[in-house]
Amino acid sequence: MKSLCKYKGSRHTLCAVTNMHRQALLEEVKYYFADSDQWHRLCAALPDPDPHGSHLHAYVATSVHPDSLESIMTSYFARMGWPSSRKIDHMSPRAKMGSLHGIEPKGKLHFDFNWFFDEDAGLRPLDGGESGCNLLIWNRWYINQYNRQFQFREFGTAEEKALESYFKSSHFLKGLEYPVMPTTCHMHINVHTSIHPDIIQPYAEEALRREGFKLYYTCPNVYLVDGKYRGKLVFMGQQPEVVFDIGWKFDSDVIIQPAWEPWIFEGHPGYDVWTTAMLDEVMDENYVRLSEVEIAAVLDACCFPA
Ligand SMILES: [Zn+2]
Repeated sequence: MKSLCKYKGSRHTLCAVTNMHRQALLEEVKYYFADSDQWHRLCAALPDPDPHGSHLHAYVATSVHPDSLESIMTSYFARMGWPSSRKIDHMSPRAKMGSLHGIEPKGKLHFDFNWFFDEDAGLRPLDGGESGCNLLIWNRWYINQYNRQFQFREFGTAEEKALESYFKSSHFLKGLEYPVMPTTCHMHINVHTSIHPDIIQPYAEEALRREGFKLYYTCPNVYLVDGKYRGKLVFMGQQPEVVFDIGWKFDSDVIIQPAWEPWIFEGHPGYDVWTTAMLDEVMDENYVRLSEVEIAAVLDACCFPA
């Protein structure tokens, strides 16, 4: 295999700094998309009957630049007949981990492709990732089941008033300034509530419309806080094209209130903000950018419908 590396000894810095020869790296990327169990299971999960109520996380180790991975995936899905229907965000959900966030093949569920840089890896499933798994799927059944653990309050006039006033509050309105900041990759507005998220959702959507946000749709989901899953509503913005969430924690004592205590990050009480500085740290590695010819070779190794 070593003799096959045409970049060996050249000034090609990418090859010089990775321990893996470029040809071997390319073979691993080809194997991943053409034959790996993880990629095939990921694709098998995409055609959910309720894609807007579903989400998926995949975890990989790689030394391939995310721009190249994005190129391969969007071309792959286009050849499946599922062209990408939204902008894909690059962000860092947690330290040392990058994410191609909100990949959405047309008509399919949206997913996050999370990577850890590993100079010895071409592209391979991570050992673990989240809750011990490198591929996790949440759908409407899961979310309904998750919500069943809470005794949500009856919805009456007082609750309606509280919801309407929350969505005019400075906590909510100030929160809307973050998603459009150039230094923000992603953000959550955090609340305590005892109102069912299915009821909160249309009030939130109405408030967002009023504030000038046009949405593709809202996806109910869960996410990890301190090792436990918490609820959220994910707003898939079309105009501006940003994705941001309301994170909610059940609290029978309140109708709906800002959560001022820190959940994931300190620094912005009431919110969690994922910044470009966090992504910059993840990107400060010697990633290998694949050429167009190499990307075409990866796709040629895969099977597509005729
Ligand atoms: Zn996610």
